[in-house]
Amino acid sequence: MSRTVLRYVAHTINRVPENGITAELFCAADECGLSSGPEGNPDDAQDWALRHTGRNPGHDLFRREYTDHARVIRAE
Ligand SMILES: [Zn+2]
Repeated sequence: MSRTVLRYVAHTINRVPENGITAELFCAADECGLSSGPEGNPDDAQDWALRHTGRNPGHDLFRREYTDHARVIRAE
């Protein structure tokens, strides 16, 4: 009978800001379905939402998605 010994190594995970953030805003109005598309600059995604509401009264609620990068590092 063999026996396996598992050794766990502690790691940490941290955001890597230099790899950027992607933002996308989705209009939540019924049957609209439009979005800003993924934007590397979150301000551009928000500007799209402001323009969208300006052109479409009542389309004033948005679901926001942000993605970033994170690196896992072995703890010393
Ligand atoms: Zn809309």
